[in-house]
Amino acid sequence: MRVLGIETTCDETAVAVVSDRLGGDGGDILSNEVLSQIAQHAAYGGVVPEIAARAHIDSLDRLIVRALANAKVDLKDIDAIAAAAGPGLIGGVLVGLTAAKGLALALGKPFIAVNHLEAHALTARLTDHLEFPFIALLVSGGHTQLVAVRGVGDYRRLGSTVDDAAGEAFDKVAKMLGLPYPGGPQIEDLAQEGDSHRFDFPRPMVGRGGADFSLSGLKTAVRQEVLKIQTLTEQDKKDLAASFQAAIVDVIVDRVRGGIRLFSQSEGRPSGLVIGGGVGANGAIRRALTRLCAESGLRFISPPANLCSDNGAIIAWAGLERLKCGYTSDLGFAPRPRWPLDAVASGAHHGKA
Ligand code: ATP
Ligand code: MG
Ligand code: FE
Repeated sequence: MRVLGIETTCDETAVAVVSDRLGGDGGDILSNEVLSQIAQHAAYGGVVPEIAARAHIDSLDRLIVRALANAKVDLKDIDAIAAAAGPGLIGGVLVGLTAAKGLALALGKPFIAVNHLEAHALTARLTDHLEFPFIALLVSGGHTQLVAVRGVGDYRRLGSTVDDAAGEAFDKVAKMLGLPYPGGPQIEDLAQEGDSHRFDFPRPMVGRGGADFSLSGLKTAVRQEVLKIQTLTEQDKKDLAASFQAAIVDVIVDRVRGGIRLFSQSEGRPSGLVIGGGVGANGAIRRALTRLCAESGLRFISPPANLCSDNGAIIAWAGLERLKCGYTSDLGFAPRPRWPLDAVASGAHHGKA
């Protein structure tokens, strides 16, 4: 089976074609076209919704044509069209969803509305052989949560951030250090040459029960230090980046540990921990989680960085998983700016095929 997937929830316009494998072990990415809008938003220090929506309109058609050409398949060889229907910026979601519905209608093929977070959570089953249930850590610019992935369409939130998302914290700290948006990768680079012990930043929530996150206090502590120093030298920036990253790594590890505990109490033993979302590209976080999983005797699956950040292949794959379960969506499916993963499960939202 081949599914074309469209992603337009934020600042990447992305289209991919993905197929499943005989025997049901993972999938093959036949094409994966991603066009980042970062340059168009950089001047504003963040994503501007109206600019994002217009940029999706400008390039989506072209990317669909290119994704089909690079996959060497015709539209008639596609079995279903999937699009991220939320959560995300409504203008962008509308563009991708409407294009997908139009294609599905014209081809007489199923349309599948995919929850963007569900796509991040299922990515590890595209790249690896992984049975349900497992734990997914979703860390991006807009989201930070731990999810029990019990099956396709069956998710339970174990914990989530009560304030800032992890990527948001990276981006805001980067801004304080005078770095352009998005600052996550640059913080990671700077941190490599910094002293992570120079600043003793707080580790909010560490040691508490549950698996919720809080990151705004950490961000504020960095701001206070930046204001105290006033004129930052290059070494100050490196030390601030390293100390901040060390703190956020400690928070994430502690919260994931809490998530594993919650999971074991209610679901039994997970088949592994997977990471998804742009922050999942961070090497320090990956190394720390590798250690944690080794200690806990858990498998750790970290998809390649390009599949952690937003792209069409993960939407196509989630669509394919849904299609195989017989879950398709009606053409009346409305975009959902907010769409908690726990609300995905019911057939009422999608309608069984
Ligand atoms: P959504 O939240 O809807 O998934 P998004 O655009 O924020 O949307 P991604 O594209 O998955 O999601 O992630 C972008 C975020 O990841 C940015 O905040 C960016 O700073 C962060 N990021 C990317 N690479 C790294 C890294 N190496 N270390 C830390 N953060 C990173
Ligand atoms: Mg993005
Ligand atoms: Fe994302």
